[in-house]
Amino acid sequence: MDHFTLKHGVLHAEDVALPAIAEAVGTPVYVYSTATIERHVAVFKAALANVESGPHGPLIAFAVKANPNRAVLATLAGAGLGADVVSGGELLRALAAGIDAGKIVFSGVGKTATEMRLALENGIFQFNIESEPEAEMLSEVAVAMGLRAPVAFRVNPNVVAGTHAKISTGGSEDKFGVAYDRAMAAYARAAALPGLAVQGVAVHIGSQLTDLGPSRAAFERVGTLIADLRAAGHRITTADLGGGLGVPYDPTKPIPPLPDAYGAMVAEVTAGWNVRLVFEPGRVIVGNAGVLLSQVIRVKPGVTDPFVIVDAAMNDLMRPSLYDAWHDIRSVTPNGDKMTANIVGPICESGDTFAKKRQMDVVKADDLVTFMTAGAYGATMANTYNSRALTPEVLVSGNKWAIVRGRQPIEALIAGDTLPPWIEEEQA
Ligand SMILES: *Cc1c(COP(=O)(O)O)cnc(C)c1O
Repeated sequence: MDHFTLKHGVLHAEDVALPAIAEAVGTPVYVYSTATIERHVAVFKAALANVESGPHGPLIAFAVKANPNRAVLATLAGAGLGADVVSGGELLRALAAGIDAGKIVFSGVGKTATEMRLALENGIFQFNIESEPEAEMLSEVAVAMGLRAPVAFRVNPNVVAGTHAKISTGGSEDKFGVAYDRAMAAYARAAALPGLAVQGVAVHIGSQLTDLGPSRAAFERVGTLIADLRAAGHRITTADLGGGLGVPYDPTKPIPPLPDAYGAMVAEVTAGWNVRLVFEPGRVIVGNAGVLLSQVIRVKPGVTDPFVIVDAAMNDLMRPSLYDAWHDIRSVTPNGDKMTANIVGPICESGDTFAKKRQMDVVKADDLVTFMTAGAYGATMANTYNSRALTPEVLVSGNKWAIVRGRQPIEALIAGDTLPPWIEEEQA
């Protein structure tokens, strides 16, 4: 459920009419709803109410890469969430947004020594390490600082997640995690390293999962591994089950499993594990808490269907070109009439296509449209291709709204490049 609804024929974010934001900030612009974010946190927490997770309860570490805006992270910090970060930059953002270091998990296959040092200085909850060479490097860094790094190995359970290949991470040929069959040896090696404190097991098999079967299979393997590790003398106190729960993008497709069903499955599979559970949801928290608001530049006749050319492009919202992702596209002031059209951006790439042969609200030049469910992996992936400035972002709360990332002036983009002296002299 989200808080983007029609009121008196005009699409609103909570109590704010989207045309008011478009007029004040211009388009394209991302608009996020605080009430929707908070609702998703509450639903996710409620879904985990019955899991066994020790005295502190589960740690819900929001996957920062889904939406790293500082105002969004601060909203989540206010709701008690921690963070799953995959770079030093994300770690600094999470801290800047007020997320406790003690609630931060650091994931990723390529952590550098500098990033490890930064995370150790700040005292994060756990490093999810993905290989033995990484374990060795982390141990060395920690020893040099007189510390022990709290670690879990991310294991690759070799399950097929059944999602898009580019967001599937738990197959044996994917780059992520330690192969399940190598895990016992990796833990033995890590336990012998002086700079590591082995505490857990982690898994994350992919994103936009629309069936609980693969997650259940992966978690069952984690359960078996925890028992094997304990039998071998390791003290396992945490189990990180990753993120990946899908959200509905296309209303004509079956709805992905709801958090409640996920929570019930987790409660069943993890009963008796005697660990603190960690979760790393991203998309399910922020996905439909955001829309990309855009204006129609013109409608160009096509041989069969017209092209609706909007002022948002693949640089603002990459998911359709990157993952063939489907976003609902709506008129902000629909009159009930429908048309079939191709929706494209202005960028000089055929891949700059949001939808083909889409049955959608009738729109004409200057009308506003929204790309729904754009709060996750939207603004965070924006870039400046075709010298288009980074997309601004707005956060709504009730009848209030604020710019939480301003529109980058194109001059700032140009000034980012500097000339070498030999060209500058020639131009002087
Ligand atoms: C991307 C990612 C997540 C979040 O995935 P969602 O599908 O957005 O829930 C969680 N954990 C790790 C390690 C990730 O890479």
